[in-house]
Amino acid sequence: MTNPDLYIKQMPIGPMENFVYFIGSKSKKEVVVVDCAWDVNAILKVAEKEGLKITAALVSHYHFDHTNGLSGLLKHLDIPVYINKEEAPWMKGLAASNTKAVGSGDSVKVGGIDIKCLHTPGHTPGSQCFHVDDALVSGDTLFINACGRTDLPGGDPKQLYESLTQKLSKLDDKTIVYPGHNYAAQTSSTIGDQKKSNPFMKFTSLQQFLSAFGY
Ligand SMILES: [Zn+2]
Repeated sequence: MTNPDLYIKQMPIGPMENFVYFIGSKSKKEVVVVDCAWDVNAILKVAEKEGLKITAALVSHYHFDHTNGLSGLLKHLDIPVYINKEEAPWMKGLAASNTKAVGSGDSVKVGGIDIKCLHTPGHTPGSQCFHVDDALVSGDTLFINACGRTDLPGGDPKQLYESLTQKLSKLDDKTIVYPGHNYAAQTSSTIGDQKKSNPFMKFTSLQQFLSAFGY
């Protein structure tokens, strides 16, 4: 059942169809920002308008289109930035004093809301999804009816296959999927629907999966 205090806001931002997210508590008015990129002022303005305090930043993976707002954000707010420990070596220019390396299963608390970090490597070595209540912010691991590329530095199709078919597909079918990019006709889906309609979640062998990527 959905926690009535859970707040999730999806914000399309920048020239690459990225989604930036706030996740937090409606009653406490505290949120984390996921994948702070492109337009820090716009993100801060939304927080100000809605009376929200940003207490931390979460990083799904190191790619610039998901992280290029972090240095600007940290000029305004001295907050921790949570990144998977496998991804930390790939991040450039982030102050060590702000960096908090996390592992799979670690949680980040915001206003009484518990956000679980789920390590889902493949698109990058330390890609992570954020699981909170009945929602999953999936970064570039899982898109609606698609998935992230594996041909960029650190990408690994075998790992992505395992992340999609062994980890994410085990989540409850009702889990709402909020992807890292606005690439589909709809802006969210569910794990159950993705297991039916997303070819990359339907492959039952690594070989099939690799063939789809042209390996
Ligand atoms: Zn990416």
